[in-house]
Amino acid sequence: MSTFDVIVIGEGVAGLTAAGQLAAAGLQVATFEQQIFGGLVLNVNELDPAPAGGEAGGAAFAAELIQSNGDAGVTSIQEPVTAVATNASGFQVTTDSGNYQARQVIVASGARLKNLNVAGESEFEGRGVSKCADCDGPMFQNESVVVVGGGDSALQEAQVLTQYCGKVHLVHRGNAFSAKAHFIKHITHNDKIEVHFGTTVEAILGGQMVERVSLNTASGTTELACAGVFAYIGLEPNQDFLDAAIARDANGFITTQDNLETSCPGLWAIGAVRSGCGGTLADAMTEAQQVATTLKQRLQ
Ligand SMILES: Cc1cc2nc3c(=O)[nH]c(=O)nc-3n(C[C@H](O)[C@H](O)[C@H](O)COP(=O)(O)OP(=O)(O)OC[C@H]3O[C@@H](n4cnc5c(N)ncnc54)[C@H](O)[C@@H]3O)c2cc1C
Repeated sequence: MSTFDVIVIGEGVAGLTAAGQLAAAGLQVATFEQQIFGGLVLNVNELDPAPAGGEAGGAAFAAELIQSNGDAGVTSIQEPVTAVATNASGFQVTTDSGNYQARQVIVASGARLKNLNVAGESEFEGRGVSKCADCDGPMFQNESVVVVGGGDSALQEAQVLTQYCGKVHLVHRGNAFSAKAHFIKHITHNDKIEVHFGTTVEAILGGQMVERVSLNTASGTTELACAGVFAYIGLEPNQDFLDAAIARDANGFITTQDNLETSCPGLWAIGAVRSGCGGTLADAMTEAQQVATTLKQRLQ
């Protein structure tokens, strides 16, 4: 069985940052990734805020991190982790192809965008329903699209979509945005964006492709013509592979002590999977640096 000082689960910015710092200090480190390195930032062409001193494009920034991790000697394993268990020497990390041993484990498995869970959403996925404004926006040249949500991501991505679309309907169930002031300012001054407060999407409708949505508003149900639907209504954590005994908050995000150790000693959680992580790249990287500093002291 392959043995490492530290196994990091997830090659998003949090996991890549922690792994790079630990390997640079001479520790044997492996990262595991279920899809492709980069995580959530892969789909963001223009990071705002952008990482200090790094690339403003998410994919380019992640590429910088993975490249420097390779140089530092991190072993990158492209397999989903399916279980983590404690044993006499620390932890056994399991994937479909085998078991790996580590003295300490960092959970940096991040989060995924929530679904609306309305009729038509899964049926029209890839046929008008998308979660990536930068990748799929160009397919909606001069069309009308609906963006759902009222936080930073919804407003940031609505703004991105106006580069391509004729009209962006921003549908938010609340009556005020929870996004940062500069995102609100941008969309308020953008003529292509029409805001629909107090409104929810009830169903996504169409034939071969999305043609319209059914909306629930204060004055009743109505339909709105659109070719695309992008939902940015929050995140849910990637944590199903962890034992149920590991403490989580009510929404499933992993809770930690101030030093970012979970309820299981030697198992750490950083970034978007952690309850209370700030939500930006910088927050995820700061947590990664904090745990890397602690583990360097413990393991060297
Ligand atoms: C639409 C959107 C726009 C954003 N824009 C910005 C911005 O402009 N600026 C900014 O600072 N922040 C932005 N953010 C926030 C930023 O993307 C996150 O804070 C950051 O990417 C979190 O990084 P992470 O490494 O914690 O998690 P993630 O990026 O989610 O990475 C986790 C990784 O772990 C992998 N993984 C999950 N489970 C397993 C498993 N079982 N086995 C192996 N691998 C696994 C995932 O595939 C993923 O690659 C944005 C977020 C969204 C959703």
